Parts: sequence; structure tokens; C-alpha cells
Amino acid sequence: MSHRTAAIGLAAAPLAATAAWASPAMTRSRLLRTVGFPRLAGRGDRGHVALTFDDGPHPKGTPAVLEALARLDVTATFFFLSAQVRRFPEVAAAVRDAGHELAVHGDLHRNHLFRSPAAVRRDIRSAVEIIGAVGGEPPRWFRPPYGVLTTSSLSGAHDVGLTPVLWTAWGRDWTSGISARRVADTVARQLRPGGTILLHDSDVTAEASGTWRGTVGALDLIASEVEALGCRLGTLGRHFRPDT
Ligand SMILES: [Zn+2]
Repeated sequence: MSHRTAAIGLAAAPLAATAAWASPAMTRSRLLRTVGFPRLAGRGDRGHVALTFDDGPHPKGTPAVLEALARLDVTATFFFLSAQVRRFPEVAAAVRDAGHELAVHGDLHRNHLFRSPAAVRRDIRSAVEIIGAVGGEPPRWFRPPYGVLTTSSLSGAHDVGLTPVLWTAWGRDWTSGISARRVADTVARQLRPGGTILLHDSDVTAEASGTWRGTVGALDLIASEVEALGCRLGTLGRHFRPDT
């Protein structure tokens, strides 16, 4: 299943999509008030744009992204799959050591809509343990595979102290034949002050191998676009400061 299938609806309208999956009673009451929609959609400090990467760590894509970010002197938030952390712990540690923020994408990259509530809870708990152990502190942010939030995703994340965050702009960098210019242009069309950018440092769910090369090539252009907006580029931790 591609990212496109499930995620487009959520990117455009997280409220409607969440409401479709959640039971009506839960939708109208506690869970959604707890979550708060501007933050769920990724809207934060208007002097800032958050940069996020999903699906890593990846043995080639992640180091290439780290190198580009170091050159730009930018830190970002990495939504890890703990299944990937188990395979490439040294890559996960390098992300932490470079001062980036570790966050939770889950253990397996499976749509929560097609998993039992118990399986979703187990998946999130396991991911928090593994990613927290690498990061040295409890992770704060959660983004489910394909951006599909179910009632189980929301309550499972809440139970372990995670805040769900989706995105306002993406690079469609999982598609085959993607170029750096195309990734940057796609992001630029959706980019606004206070937004959150979704990219991928990994090709594990992409349509072709090596799609992260387009992502890496786009980072200079994206950083320039963000600067032109008068915003700083950085982590979700900075994006959602307590005083903003
Ligand atoms: Zn993903």
C-alpha cells in the first residue's frame, strides 16, 4: 500500500479523517479535545517551520540526511520505526548524537485501521521502549504509519504520553523517479509559517529504492524557502515551545 492511498485525506483534513475512523462518541468528546487540532495538524510557532523525517533509520538514507543537515546547521525530528532501530541501532544512535529529536512512527509500518486495538497498543508501547532507550529520554511525538489515526492510535499514544503530530506540507518523496527539484517544489507549494514538513530519510515504504537521494538533494532548496518566509527551521520540540 502506498502512502498516497491513505494519507492524502488526512493531510488535507485530519479532523474529517479522524472522525471517520473513531466512534462518534469518542470523536466528539474526550480524545479529540485532549489532542487539540492545530498541534495535531503540525501548526506551531509562526516564526518557525518544523522539519520531520519518517520511516528511518536507514543505513544509507539517514547518514546522507544527517550530513546535509549538519552542513545547514539544522536539527530535525526523526519519526523512527523501532523495527528499523533494531536492525540499525548504530544509525539511530548517530541521529541522537547529532542532536536531533527522536520520535515514534511505530514498530511496524502497518495501517492501524487494519490492526486490532490490542495490536496497535502493543506496537506503540514497544516502539516507545526501543526508541526511548536509544534517545535516553521518553519520546514526545507520535505519527502513525500513513498518518492514519484511529481511536486505538489516539488512546494508545495518550497512554504512553505521546502527542500525535501529522504535517502541513510533504515532498511526496516516496514516489519513483522523484527529483530533488520536484521534492522542493512540492514542499514550497504548501509551505506556510508555522507549518510542519514531512520527508523521508528511508525508502522502506517507498515505490522505489534510493528515493531518499531526492530528499537529500532538496534540503538546501527547502532551507532557502523557509528562510525566505522569515522562519527558522528545526525540531517539533522547538516548534511547540510551551510559551508559544
Ligand atoms: Zn511512514
